[in-house]
Amino acid sequence: MIAKCRNSKKTFGIRVERRDEGWCLTWAFKIDEKMASREGFEKTKISGNFYMDEEFPGCPYCGAMDFIQCGCKKLTCYDEGIAECGWCGNKSKPVAGEQFEFTSGDY
Ligand SMILES: [Zn+2]
Ligand SMILES: [Zn+2]
Repeated sequence: MIAKCRNSKKTFGIRVERRDEGWCLTWAFKIDEKMASREGFEKTKISGNFYMDEEFPGCPYCGAMDFIQCGCKKLTCYDEGIAECGWCGNKSKPVAGEQFEFTSGDY
């Protein structure tokens, strides 16, 4: 999955793993936006429950451990206060729960 840091507006990738309980976020790493599209992240289709592995390092830029999904379906890191989408700039209240949905081509 691809996300942006709300502080630095930089792109990073999140590795997820399918497990019994849902999708587990296992790793986050800095990535170039162009490289991300070349690697085919946009073809990913995942939806349902998300939770973090205890090893999950959080946002590689600012260390935030939470994420929000904007109406534009893109992920931005989040810690507290008003959630601002790093992609379209939309400000929204954080949605409770860990329910995200991604469909092919949304990236
Ligand atoms: Zn961040
Ligand atoms: Zn947005």
